[in-house]
Amino acid sequence: MIRLSELSLPLDHPEIALRQAILKRLELADDALLGFSVFKRSYDARKKNTEITFVYIIHLDVKDEAAVLARFVDDPHVTMAPDTEYHPVAVAPADLAERPLVIGFGPCGLFAATILAQMGFKPIVLERGRDVRKRTQDTWALWRQHNLSTESNVQFGEGGAGLFSDGKLYSQVKDPKFYGRKVMQEFVDHGAPDNILYVNKPHIGTFRLTTVVSRMRQSIIEMGGEIRFESKVTDLLLENGEVKGVTLADGSQLLSRHVVLALGHSARDTFRMLHQREVHIEPKPFAIGFRIEHPQSMIDRARLGKYAGHEELGAADYKLIHHAKNGRAVYSFCMCPGGQVVAATSEEGRVVTNGMSQYSRKERNANAGIVVGINPEQDFPGGPLAGIELQEKLESIAYQLGGCDYRAPAQLVGDFLRGRPSEKLGEVEPSYQPGVKLCDLAEALPDYVIEAMREALPAFGRKIRGFDREDAVLTGIESRTSSPIRITRDPHTLQSLNVRGLYPAGEGAGYAGGILSAGIDGIKVAEAVALDILQQRETE
Ligand code: FAD
Repeated sequence: MIRLSELSLPLDHPEIALRQAILKRLELADDALLGFSVFKRSYDARKKNTEITFVYIIHLDVKDEAAVLARFVDDPHVTMAPDTEYHPVAVAPADLAERPLVIGFGPCGLFAATILAQMGFKPIVLERGRDVRKRTQDTWALWRQHNLSTESNVQFGEGGAGLFSDGKLYSQVKDPKFYGRKVMQEFVDHGAPDNILYVNKPHIGTFRLTTVVSRMRQSIIEMGGEIRFESKVTDLLLENGEVKGVTLADGSQLLSRHVVLALGHSARDTFRMLHQREVHIEPKPFAIGFRIEHPQSMIDRARLGKYAGHEELGAADYKLIHHAKNGRAVYSFCMCPGGQVVAATSEEGRVVTNGMSQYSRKERNANAGIVVGINPEQDFPGGPLAGIELQEKLESIAYQLGGCDYRAPAQLVGDFLRGRPSEKLGEVEPSYQPGVKLCDLAEALPDYVIEAMREALPAFGRKIRGFDREDAVLTGIESRTSSPIRITRDPHTLQSLNVRGLYPAGEGAGYAGGILSAGIDGIKVAEAVALDILQQRETE
């Protein structure tokens, strides 16, 4: 198969134009092109006021592949297509008694369990939260009635933290084995739209993700796996530096010599248990800030010029960074076009924001975290769990500023820049449920964060006109941007540095930062578990 890249066509080209462009570019007769598929499609908006174009990577079959490759031997855009298929690394023996345990059923646990099940290893998944249907009701109870369930919410339950999300499915992790493609293919096989396989910045939206996740659960069960909801792991069974199993909240124990820890970044009680058990943990940098909201139409105009609102392009996104004079980097995080700001706490008396959208991205506002990077050396010295303690402190302050009923503290950008509390909203209506309380957000975060953000917002306004408009809304606080810890693992075996058989994985362990990268990490860890089980069997 041949890969042809950098093939540009006008935005509104008819379907047939793609085939014609391939024939022309490769100087082929019509019958020499046996078939083709779009591997990737992005758009080039550098000339947004004259012409935005689609840019394709195509995989194609031709009659005489060697001849075509020889003709274009010096052309970097005509090459052999890489093998992007997923190839399992192991097959479980039919008489295998041991069943690996996967703790957590977010994207990382979902893919660890899927791959293990596909290889025949019959995993048992232990998830503290509830299934998708019950979890949706619990989450809405917070958003609509101020009622928080600490075990079933935006962070905890089937699908993990990514379930009520924008469902952005892209990441910057290196992926030489195309595991990301496997993640996408599984999503498509379980009901996601197939354009996620080729559009440049795919997203799936929250409702569709919900269906996909519950169908994937069904597939795991059909392959012999088991998913146990409302099953919180409260302790590890350890012996001579090896894991032997886990204890659950109801006191029962499950034995296994292979335990995947796919906990996510909000399992603070479990992190504390691991620390107590002396599992190797180190602090790591993360970021804190606020969510910002603007009218989506304003972002569309700034990003897409005369193409704003074009159906093929959808709601526009942005990515911004500013290096402030006080040495801090301020950047946009988890931008959600046409979406809403959501209440994302999992703990009583705390307020945290995040963003989500539906597949259509048709809500009135664009939102994104505007966050400042912080690090353990400078900002939270004091041990592996100091970042968690800082998050807890800041989230409690946000709860108080919001009025102690899970509303979020908010302020207009104009007032924030001038350092005065907000008293009334402008045109931009905040989307956060169960509502916001206007205040002075400078009280919510450390001074160096506020100072850096006050410098960054006008700078962003110079890149996207209106970004620092008076009535843009800031909602606080964004504090769970990534895990404040790393549960360090050996880079080859992927096992904990000091506990054999324990596989820290995904976002909570500090090895992923989003749905796709968490899924990819789940695949890697599943492979490591499978190979270790086979090796142990051989040597015993
Ligand atoms: P999680 O998804 O956090 O899953 C961990 C699971 O472990 C949870 O279900 C939890 O209940 C369970 N668990 C924890 N402790 C225990 C225990 N002791 N016993 C049993 N179970 C336990 N990322 C993107 O790429 N794109 C987006 O658009 C996007 N939007 C987001 C929107 C929101 C509102 C949020 C909160 C996050 C968003 N993210 C997004 C981030 C993304 O969701 C995470 O990066 C991803 O879910 C991490 O996957 P994970 O499997 O490592 O952990």
